[in-house]
Formats: sequence, structure tokens, C-alpha cells
Amino acid sequence: MHQDSILAAKNAWQEAEAILVGAGAGMGVDSGLPDFRGKSGFWKAYPPLAKMGIEFEEMANPYWFTQNPSLAWGFYGHRLNLYQKTKPHRGFNILLNKFKEENIPMFVFTSNVDSHFQKTGFEENQIMECHGSLMHFQCIEECGQPIWPIGPDLLLQINPDNLLAKEPLPSCPQCGSLARPNILMFSDFAWNSTRTYAQRQRFEKWIEKFKNKNLLIIELGAGTNIPTVRLTCEEVYQSAGNHFIRVNPGESECGLKNTLSLPMGAKDAIKAISQNY
Ligand SMILES: [Zn+2]
Repeated sequence: MHQDSILAAKNAWQEAEAILVGAGAGMGVDSGLPDFRGKSGFWKAYPPLAKMGIEFEEMANPYWFTQNPSLAWGFYGHRLNLYQKTKPHRGFNILLNKFKEENIPMFVFTSNVDSHFQKTGFEENQIMECHGSLMHFQCIEECGQPIWPIGPDLLLQINPDNLLAKEPLPSCPQCGSLARPNILMFSDFAWNSTRTYAQRQRFEKWIEKFKNKNLLIIELGAGTNIPTVRLTCEEVYQSAGNHFIRVNPGESECGLKNTLSLPMGAKDAIKAISQNY
């Protein structure tokens, strides 16, 4: 590990007057969540799908909610259960403390759909979830029911042998039709983007407000596979940021000037950067 980079990152952390946190899959991996990227990782997590030869891109498709609702909810319900049962790691709390105890304004831009920032105690109005949220549902009939949050105790019963969810499946509180997660899937023309759009507007306002301050961008575990978080962090750094720290065990390189690369996990990096000694 480059001690110089850690030291520089510590300084940036201490001097920051506002912090944008960019979080990708690597942030969740440190809480013990699986990384579904890559065929082998995905099929290891879902043996019944391996048997059927269904890949992630094929499964993460709204098609299944009309074609085979029990399988669609078996797949998403399994993840939902996992997110509900998993406790966000200590790195989340360290970030929250920086915001709450030290009063450093903070905004989170994440591609994760697990709501773990909310679960830690971050407020709804300081988070943008660019791929939506698995902890929010929408009606597949688009009956006019606004997106609704799920209860903290909701768990689905899923048969591990065939990945089929047991009835009753989640349904719309207004019309009783099948519900689906409010996350952006592949070939997803029915995704209700109103919630994420409102988040984006708050995000843009926040950047506007703090662009003349000492703004630190810290990017955590965001990969190049689906690069939305990386590109957003780079863009904010170039237009409004003072410091940029990219944390990623395997892909920490950055082509921009005066950035800091920490080739390590998200939790360890947050712990290292936030220590005062
Ligand atoms: Zn409905």
C-alpha cells in the first residue's frame, strides 16, 4: 500500500467542507453481499438458474414478471431477503458520523439497490440511487399507484431447489396487480423513474450548492463493467471538485490529474482515511 496516498487521502478527508460519496458493488461486498458480476459468481449464488442456463442479463429482465412471476420474485426476493438480513459494515457508520457529528454536508450517489445507506441512517434526500431501489416497488399494470417503500420486515418465502417464490407475491396496494421492484432492469421500458428523477434533481442542486467549497469526491468499489458511478464521480470532480479519491481493489486507476488511487476494499479504505493518527 502506498502510505503517501493514504496520508494525502487523510488530509483531503480532514480538509473537506463537503463530501460526495460514490458507491458501487464493492461497497456492499464488504458487508458480505455477493458480487453478481461474471457468470460463475452469479451461478454460484443461484444454482437453480445455473441448472436452467439463465444468465444475469437474461434474468434481470421485466419479461419474467409477466412470463413467470414466481421465478421473477424468487430471484429478486432472494436478493431482497439478503439485503434485509445483512447489516451494513462499519464504513457506512464512519461516513454517517462525518456527516452527523462533524456536520460535513454529504451526498451519496450509488448504483446499489440495497438501501443500505438509508438503513445506516442517511436521509432519503441525500441519496441518489441511479439504478433505483429493490426496497421500493411499483405496480406492473401502471395503475397510477405511486412507487411505495416496502416494510422493514418483508421477507419472501422461496424454494431453494427451484428458486420459486411462494404465494402471495407482492402486490399493488391500489389495484391488487403484481408488484415489481422499482429497479432498472435490462430492456426495461416500464421502469418508473419518478423517484430516481427527483433524487437526481436534489443531487444536481447539492452539487451546485457546494461547488465553490472544498468538495471531496470519494468513490468506493465502483467498477468499469457498468461505469455510471465512476463517470459521475469523474464528471463532478472535473466540474466542481477539489479532491478525488478512487477506492477499488482491482480498478483504482484514474486518468485525471491530481487524483488519489487506493487499491483496497471500501471498508478498509474508509477506516484508514478517517483515522486521526
Ligand atoms: Zn396497481
